[in-house]
Amino acid sequence: MEKDKLRIMMIGAHPDDCDFRCGGVALKYAQMGHMVQFVSISDGSAGHHQMKPEELADRRKMEAQKVADLAGIEYVILGMKDGEIMADLDSRRQLIQCIRLFNPDLILTSRPNDYHADHRQTSLLVQDASYLLIVPNICPDTKPMDDMPVIGFFYDRFHNPSFNPDIIIDIDDVIDKKFEMLDCHVSQVYEWLPYTNHRLDEVPDDSSERMEWLRTPTIADFENQKNSLLLPESFQEKRSGIFGEARMAETSNLYREQLIERYGASQGHLVRFSEAFQLSEYGFQPDDAELKRLFPF
Ligand SMILES: [Zn+2]
Repeated sequence: MEKDKLRIMMIGAHPDDCDFRCGGVALKYAQMGHMVQFVSISDGSAGHHQMKPEELADRRKMEAQKVADLAGIEYVILGMKDGEIMADLDSRRQLIQCIRLFNPDLILTSRPNDYHADHRQTSLLVQDASYLLIVPNICPDTKPMDDMPVIGFFYDRFHNPSFNPDIIIDIDDVIDKKFEMLDCHVSQVYEWLPYTNHRLDEVPDDSSERMEWLRTPTIADFENQKNSLLLPESFQEKRSGIFGEARMAETSNLYREQLIERYGASQGHLVRFSEAFQLSEYGFQPDDAELKRLFPF
């Protein structure tokens, strides 16, 4: 294991959660030569209105592999049943083994309060696993970790309690490729998500038109003369479920001050797309130097 290479594990409930929530940061790590592994706890077999579970799980595995090839990362599907993830002992053991095998410096995952039961259970599973990762008598077949990893939560829109970012990363340099990652999840971004939003009839057939549709609304409509983003409050409700550029710019709009603090006034004001993370109290607690090492951007 190369010492200067970071090992970053991103754990979502479904095979597209990590892509949406931290795909940009994943690309930045991979481009610097660090190891990135996406883990989907479930097989994704519930996310479609027409396809049968088995057929869908196979298709989503292929979509995830396409993302892995494109981004230069690993994509692991643990394969629990979609819609039925439970933070029980069996699942906990399975995740402890999976995390120990990869031996990450940093884990990014969902917060425990989220609209989807699978996202909540995934977050619980990661937190339940965290301390036990270093305990040799738990899952004795896999080597315990020397230290708990740092754990961070993806940004979400829920307010009870609200998300408080500890780290915010400029992803302008990789936004096109992040959309290419999302574009790999055809069954989701062009079929299932539009279906749940009653917008299936809007989806173009042509692949380049599709990408344009995926990026709409673009942020050009929301920029003022100073090139700062001003997303209206009403925007959130209007586009729930589908992303678009404006949704990817939401954290920059909400946490502009933190961007300026991190990158300085001239760059901080101009960042359009970003990804934000909140640290968990249950992982290793990093000091500033460790945070700099873990987020070297
Ligand atoms: Zn999900």
